[in-house]
Amino acid sequence: MNRKDWIENPKIVSHPAWLRRWRQDPFSVQPVYIEISPVGMCNHRCTFCAPEMLGYPNRSLDTNLLIARLREMKQLRVEDPDGLGIKAIQYAGEGEPTLHKDLAKIFAETRKAGIDIGMLTNGTGLTEKLAREIIPLVNGYIQVSINAGTSESYAKIHRTPTPKHWDLIWHNLDKAVQIKHRLGVKDCDIGANMTVLVKETIDHQRGNTVVPTNWREMEQLIQYAIGCGLDYVSFKPYSQHLYSQETAKLYGDMSYRNLMNEITETGKELMNRYNHNDFEVIFRFSRFEEYEAEERGYCTCRATPTLWSYIQSDGKWISCSAYWTDERFTLGNINTQSVKEIWFGERRREHLKFVLNDLDITECRKTCHPDKENGYLDKISRMNDEGFNQEIISLESLKRPKRANFI
Ligand code: SF4
Repeated sequence: MNRKDWIENPKIVSHPAWLRRWRQDPFSVQPVYIEISPVGMCNHRCTFCAPEMLGYPNRSLDTNLLIARLREMKQLRVEDPDGLGIKAIQYAGEGEPTLHKDLAKIFAETRKAGIDIGMLTNGTGLTEKLAREIIPLVNGYIQVSINAGTSESYAKIHRTPTPKHWDLIWHNLDKAVQIKHRLGVKDCDIGANMTVLVKETIDHQRGNTVVPTNWREMEQLIQYAIGCGLDYVSFKPYSQHLYSQETAKLYGDMSYRNLMNEITETGKELMNRYNHNDFEVIFRFSRFEEYEAEERGYCTCRATPTLWSYIQSDGKWISCSAYWTDERFTLGNINTQSVKEIWFGERRREHLKFVLNDLDITECRKTCHPDKENGYLDKISRMNDEGFNQEIISLESLKRPKRANFI
C-alpha cells in the first residue's frame, strides 16, 4: 500500500480487535489516535487557519504533567484485556508545536509509552538543534504546512511576520533532511502539505491586501520539495470550521466545483510526472469531492468519542476538534483529572449517548478528520453478527499499512 492508499482509505480496518470491542460496547474502547496541541501560540496567521477563533493564546501544556498523562496512557493500554489503547499522537493543534520548550522531552516520553508520533508544523521553528533531537524519535511524519509555491504568495497566505520565513523554512527543511539521512532514520517521513485555495480574497486585517489563490503554484511547491529531498507533498481541500468567523469571511463561500475537472487533471498529471520511488505527490481527490457533496454517506457519528480525541493547550480534553469552544464536547481537563477519570468517566458516558442519539451531523464540519472512518463504522454497524464476523476475519488477514495508527 503506498502513501496515497493509506491517506485515502479508512485506517480503522487495520484494527480488527478494536472494532470487535467497539461493536460490543463503544464506551469500553480507548481512542486509537489522539491529537495534542502542546502550545496555543503561533508565529504565523494563515488566512484559512480555523484556530484563529481561539486567539493563539500564549499558553503551553505543562511538561511534567503531560509526561505523567503519557505514562498513564501506557498503563491503561497494558491493563486493557486486549492491549487496546492510544497508539498514535499527532502533535499539532491550535498553535505551532515547535514553540513548546520541551518538545524533544515530550517526544521521548511518548515513544517510551509505546505511542507513535506525527507532527504538523509550519517549519519555522524546526531548527537544526531541534531536528537533531526529534527526528530520531518521530516514527510517523513531520509534515510542514507550506501553502504556496512562491515567496510572495507564501507571505500573504501565511501572513508571516517577515518575508524571510520562506527562505527560513526551506533552509530548515534542507538541514532536517540531511540530519535524517546522516542519522540513518528510516521511519520519519518529512513532507509538505498545501491546503488548496481557489478563491482570491481580501485580507481586511492587513490593509485590504489581496490574498492570492495557490492552486496554480502546486507544481512549484513540488519542485521545491524535490530539490530539498522531501518524501512527499500532499494537497487537500479547505474545510470551513463551524465557529471560525474570520475564515468564513475569507473562504466561507469558496467552491471547487467549477474548477474540479481542471484541478483533478492537474493533480493526476503532477502525480504521473513527479511520483517515483523516493518521492510522492498525494492528491486527496476524494476529499475534494466530499467538500462539494451535498450530504454525507452516514447519519450518525460513531468515531466520537470513541476512536479519536483532542487535547488542547490549556489541558482541556475535547472529544472532537471541530467543536472547540463548544462545552458539550469537553470531556475533562488533564491538569486536574487523570486519563482514566476523563476517558472512563460519567461525562464521556453521557457524551457518547448524546453523539449517538442527539447530535445532528448536518451541522458538523464538512470533511471532518474521521469522515472515512465514520463511513466505514456506519457500514459495519448495519451488518448482522455473521456478516460482521466475516468482515473482521477478512480484516485480520490484511497487511497493516504504514501509519495505520494515525487515524
Ligand atoms: S465533526 Fe465529524 S467527527 Fe466531529 S462530531 Fe461531527 S461527524 Fe463526528
